[in-house]
Amino acid sequence: MKFLRLLATVVCLALAPPPSALVSAFFLPNISSIPPSLLPNVSSAAWNAFRNFSGCHAGERRDGLAKLKKYFRYFGYIPDSPSNFTDDFDDALESAIKTYQRNFNLDPTGQLDDATLKQIVRPRCGNPDIVNGTTAMNSGKEALVNASHFHAVRHYTFFPGTPRWPDGQIDLTYAFLPDNQLADEAKAVFSRAFERWSAVTPLTFTATDSFAAADIKIGFFSGDHGDGEPFDGVLGTLAHAFSPPNGRFHLDRDEDWVVTGDVTASSVSTAIDLESVAVHEIGHLLGLGHSSVAGSIMYPTITSRTRKVELATDDIQGIQVLYGSNPNYNGSSSTTSPSQERESSDGGASRASGSRWAARAVVAVGLGTLLF
Ligand SMILES: [Zn+2]
Ligand SMILES: [Zn+2]
Repeated sequence: MKFLRLLATVVCLALAPPPSALVSAFFLPNISSIPPSLLPNVSSAAWNAFRNFSGCHAGERRDGLAKLKKYFRYFGYIPDSPSNFTDDFDDALESAIKTYQRNFNLDPTGQLDDATLKQIVRPRCGNPDIVNGTTAMNSGKEALVNASHFHAVRHYTFFPGTPRWPDGQIDLTYAFLPDNQLADEAKAVFSRAFERWSAVTPLTFTATDSFAAADIKIGFFSGDHGDGEPFDGVLGTLAHAFSPPNGRFHLDRDEDWVVTGDVTASSVSTAIDLESVAVHEIGHLLGLGHSSVAGSIMYPTITSRTRKVELATDDIQGIQVLYGSNPNYNGSSSTTSPSQERESSDGGASRASGSRWAARAVVAVGLGTLLF
């Protein structure tokens, strides 16, 4: 399997028409012409085995359920639990499933029905949905919601304590981990993602070469990278980001990231749109938590070969509670305008090239618990 992936990557590299389109070995060029036999096998993706639990319900015992419990613990649905889970479908698991189902707008049956499992195995953000046992997503709001007014309820959420960048620090800088050696094309993707948030707030984002001094530090990592939140290879968790004013933004280097071209037309079933994930994680860097609105940027999951980069009304309302509106924002839910497109075309990326910094991205000492 590993070999096939490697082979596929090699083929990708060989087929890339203009060398300049290649950003690095972990970004996909235009891959539509790769023979299917050489493409990554999605069945190896992190959580696909969970599909075998279809129909499983309370009182049963199934091999591997302990792994599903770990999944739910990772995302906050089984709080304060020991790590030695059993394969029993117990009350804690049933409760976790019900809460998960409410958060993702599913029928809260407490059973592992197909709709629930389909959602569970979707690639997603590594940040938990529930922090310190409390959820601000759907399940935490239900008690407050009159069903007849459900659609009027705002779903955006914040981190506990509602951290945000302070008033005197709204002109933020960002930098890329020098070891990643990102090409300008990849840097421009992040620039466009930042622009979507600055279009609706007074915040500004400027690329800098000074990785150590930057407010926001962006890096691609494989597996364990020192902050207690290891990445898991293809699909599964895609990225995670810390709440303000921490500024750390980490992406899973093992994903098949798509930088340019139409991700929806990709022949690679594991292709993930970089800009879509970047827009989501920047929301975290600015103080937003996960939302239960499926169309929002801050919804926790994104399927492969999907592009979702436009801020939804829910996202805009949430970020403007924290920072207010951009004086030029006209109230449209669309965050793309011709002027923004023009501004982002140079992406600030050229300013970030030629970085000489050798500092490592992760300085984990004492920060592991600050993930939220
Ligand atoms: Zn997230
Ligand atoms: Zn990390």
